[in-house]
Amino acid sequence: IKESNPLKTINDEIFVYVSKKQKEIDELKKLELFRREFLADVSHEFKTPIFAAQGFIHTLLDGAMEDESVRERFLRKAAKNLDSLDVLVKDLLVLSQMETGDIKMNFAPVDLHLMTLNIFGRLENIAADRNVTLRVKPDNTKAWVMADQDRIEQVMLNLIENAIKYGNEGGKVIVHFDESKKNIEISVRDNGPGIPQEHINRIFERFYRVDKSRSKERGGTGLGLAIVKHIINAHDTKIAVMSKPDKGTTFSFKLEKANIDPPVNIMEQQIP
Ligand code: ADP
Repeated sequence: IKESNPLKTINDEIFVYVSKKQKEIDELKKLELFRREFLADVSHEFKTPIFAAQGFIHTLLDGAMEDESVRERFLRKAAKNLDSLDVLVKDLLVLSQMETGDIKMNFAPVDLHLMTLNIFGRLENIAADRNVTLRVKPDNTKAWVMADQDRIEQVMLNLIENAIKYGNEGGKVIVHFDESKKNIEISVRDNGPGIPQEHINRIFERFYRVDKSRSKERGGTGLGLAIVKHIINAHDTKIAVMSKPDKGTTFSFKLEKANIDPPVNIMEQQIP
């Protein structure tokens, strides 16, 4: 019979304890680094519109106000920069609520087909500016899924808006619903220039942009896809992206189908 060695047992326990503590320290260091990077990113993103608005306002105060056409133009530019600051703060708030789990999800049956048509209406102007055609396929059915209505609306809005902004001028944006037994697969497609392969894995990171100046020119905060990813994860599903140079980009995800009972016929109910 082998005798147990008490010293070896104690040594093993100490070893396990030390490596557990080391892991905790590594984890804390990672969190601290993430926090510092996040603060640096946020301050940088805030600085740009603040500096720009300050510049326009100070130039006006220093005398440019006398010229009526300059006055109007500079005030509009200052306002535009403050508007983008407002969007940035709102996006950051949503993102931080999602990250800390402060948002309560309300799952209920949602008709994504109707939601998509409403979003097309909201984005009509920016689509018209770029001469982009918006389509939903199939175009005459309902697409009932179990989802948090407000959050999924934000996902659809961000994906469709990106497809319009980064797709081709004069191009097409198509939302597809592909129904299977349990799920509906939703895809948002554009026929734009696509996303280069080396960027694909990073576009869901906060503040990551493939083309910084193009994103800013089109009013982007760089947070849209980070928000999309969090919301999709909170629906226990995943988002996929497929992109081919000069052919276009498709974002897709699946949601569980909702069982919608056919409407009850009131006349039938009244018959004893
Ligand atoms: P942004 O506010 O810059 O639009 P997003 O997080 O929504 O931020 O998107 C991140 C980046 O991914 C964009 O800046 C853009 O470069 C790229 N991107 C997103 N959607 C598309 C698309 N449909 N086609 C090409 N590039 C896209």
